[in-house]
Amino acid sequence: MPSICLEDEDIHDMNQSPSLPIAAWAEGCYIYDTNGKEYLDGSSGPIAVNIGHGVPEVLEAMSGQAKRIVFTYRTQFASQAVLDLTAEILGTAGKRYREVVYTNSGSEATEAALRLVMHHHQAEGDTGRTAILSQIPSYHGMTAGALATSGHPGRREHLRALHDHSASVVPVAAGGSEHLLPGIAEWEAAFASVGAHRIAAVVLEPVGGAAGGAAVVPDEVFRRIEELCRASGALLVADEVMTGFGRTGAWFGHEHAGVTPDIVITGKGLSGGYTPIGACLVGDRVLPGRSAADLAFGHTMSGNPLSAATALAVLRYTREHRLAERAARTGATLRDRLATLAERFSFLGRPRGRGLLLAVPVLQHEEEFRRDPLARRICRTAQRLGLIVYPAGVSTRSQAVLVAPPLTIKENEIDELLLRLARTLDTVRTEAE
Ligand code: PLP
Repeated sequence: MPSICLEDEDIHDMNQSPSLPIAAWAEGCYIYDTNGKEYLDGSSGPIAVNIGHGVPEVLEAMSGQAKRIVFTYRTQFASQAVLDLTAEILGTAGKRYREVVYTNSGSEATEAALRLVMHHHQAEGDTGRTAILSQIPSYHGMTAGALATSGHPGRREHLRALHDHSASVVPVAAGGSEHLLPGIAEWEAAFASVGAHRIAAVVLEPVGGAAGGAAVVPDEVFRRIEELCRASGALLVADEVMTGFGRTGAWFGHEHAGVTPDIVITGKGLSGGYTPIGACLVGDRVLPGRSAADLAFGHTMSGNPLSAATALAVLRYTREHRLAERAARTGATLRDRLATLAERFSFLGRPRGRGLLLAVPVLQHEEEFRRDPLARRICRTAQRLGLIVYPAGVSTRSQAVLVAPPLTIKENEIDELLLRLARTLDTVRTEAE
């Protein structure tokens, strides 16, 4: 396991750097700062703004809900917005899920998933199952339990003592395969060495994000993991915080492999960045004869009406405009064009990813990488030149630049994105000479 301790983002998460431009307004794929400078959002922020900025239908739903009622507490009142959102989520998930547990972020949704997993095994009297298998690289959230599940050395390093003590994570060492992710052999070895009877769940991103840099879990590997889970009694949990709601060209990323996770973790695209919300979709097998509503989950703001009305409008927009299909088409074109562009630069590898979750791998000598990871430099330069892209995989030494614009991006905006990216790469190369 690599011990290097670097963050993927250049910016400390909690504190906004005073050197950042101040965002003033945004529309579609463009953001403008207070000096009037225009930025093309080539990564949907942190791969969250799935339907672009300022969509009137969403703003109207938000203000309509705000005028009626913004907050009710979930144990005191039901909310029509939450009931409608749940129906929308379960309907679009193909009726394979029974319940939705709401949170305020993707990290909290991971925590809820971990607790659902533990409730499941305890209800079965199977209390020896404490191991959660995840892979390196992976990222499942910033809270302690979610970090304990993440194969992200940079972010989990300072919590090492806590994680070692809880001993609940068994990261699978990277197999060094062409996919950068563990293959069937590594997963089988992990099940054997941990002991199938000890494994509570596998948690997996269908396509890697902040840590995995758009590395795709091959369909046959995903299917084998599902088989291993079914044979051993472990639950399969798909973390679709980044990949959910059309991003990869299917409604959920796991659908490409034809697997049926027991729990699906969501966030980001659920509200397209318009408001904080996350959710877990809970499958039939997780709590037989019980409801997650009976468990002591939930935070004060979980399932608040304003977030629910917002997410409902975003999901309806995504579905009605067939944005998943559109992401599949646009993603294929963008990937080809990125490949042509990457050929011009010796420090770039072949683009990878699925739908509109794409990445261009960045190659660099070890020593230079330690001084200044090139993926970050590219993203900084891009922002200077009016393009937002996102550095990934820095802490796992599989650095890449994520290119994941809103699913609504138009053809002329793709042209502009590529133009600004080419300008960025030329500038980086010239500055390095
Ligand atoms: N899981 C994945 C796959 C993510 O990409 C992220 C965030 O980047 C999270 C979980 C955590 O979500 P949040 O930042 O909303 O807490």
